Amino acid sequence: MSIFSQIMAGEIPANWVYQDALCVAFMDINPMSPGHVLVVPRLEVATLEELPGDLRTHLLDITVRVAAAQRQGLGSLAQHVLVNDGKAASQTVPHVHFHVIPRYGRDQIATMSRIIWHVATLMLPPSVSASKRARLASQAEQIKQAMS
Ligand code: AMP
Repeated sequence: MSIFSQIMAGEIPANWVYQDALCVAFMDINPMSPGHVLVVPRLEVATLEELPGDLRTHLLDITVRVAAAQRQGLGSLAQHVLVNDGKAASQTVPHVHFHVIPRYGRDQIATMSRIIWHVATLMLPPSVSASKRARLASQAEQIKQAMS
């Protein structure tokens, strides 16, 4: 069972942004920029190719909605939409997912530093202080409200 399936089963806490019968979205525990969200299908497969086509379409629709809600709720200007589609493409969780990484303008240096930090720490267990969890919860709430 992937860590994302464990999150969906309620075995690991998450800061939820969106849930429906086919997929979920929650805050990345180690964000590459403030408000970084993961969109994950309930079906546990590793790559885009293994997804049924209609589910792939649905995930992209939800990804676009999450991105719009980040812009509305958090004031971001644009976003990276990223899939590490297989282990050799730096995928660390073998359960396909879209990263939705907001950009805020004039944030090149901060974002690039965070991306380097993110990649450097991927192999470590994620650390979640109370203040980090509170920040993720607040961002999740703003995105969730903008989506509804
Ligand atoms: P990837 O390298 O594309 O497989 O991305 C996996 C992502 O999952 C990374 O951005 C991690 O920070 C994120 N991640 C790992 N564990 C958790 C967790 N418990 N809750 C939220 N995000 C997580």
